[in-house]
Amino acid sequence: MEKKLEKIKKHVTECINCELSKTRTNSVPGKGNFKSDVIFVGEAPGKNEDMKGEPFIGIAGKKLSIALENVGITREQVYITNIVKCRPPKNRVPTEIERNTCKNYLKKEIEIIKPKIICILGNTAFNSLLDGKEIIKFRGKLVKKDNQLYFLTIHPAATIYNQKLTTVLKKDIKKLFKLVTEVKDKKEIKIDIEYTS
Ligand code: SF4
Repeated sequence: MEKKLEKIKKHVTECINCELSKTRTNSVPGKGNFKSDVIFVGEAPGKNEDMKGEPFIGIAGKKLSIALENVGITREQVYITNIVKCRPPKNRVPTEIERNTCKNYLKKEIEIIKPKIICILGNTAFNSLLDGKEIIKFRGKLVKKDNQLYFLTIHPAATIYNQKLTTVLKKDIKKLFKLVTEVKDKKEIKIDIEYTS
């Protein structure tokens, strides 16, 4: 399992499949525990991530870590990745072409890790993975699509200047791990939205 992820990491590091390869400093493969029950999926690397080649290490990453620590989980216990693995210039939203070109890497990460729940962080991941819009209206909900569970919450970057949203993120992360425990204990869980393809 670990070897397969290492292979993806190598491909991501060397990838020149889209225009973002021309402007990045480093590509940013997913990182974390390959046995994690949860994969967190954000939008794209930012400036700090681009410099270091690691996901969620800037202020938004710190916000996520705090929300995780609040429920006794460390960053090392989970797996964190993004929809696109290279930083879009000036942190613009990745285009549909960039997202589609990069999506195979995420697909493989999910296939290898087989998370109990994929936690969608923010609008771009919501749109890319579930064709959704306005995550603020749907946050806190559990979604099932093609036999995979997804949990929806805001992007940690949204909490940087907004204390109310910090509370929202913490509340959602708490609910997420409660759901993970229930799934593992094979308890009956309430699916809020079910997609049929
Ligand atoms: S964003 Fe994805 S597809 Fe584009 S160059 Fe980076 S790794 Fe390759």
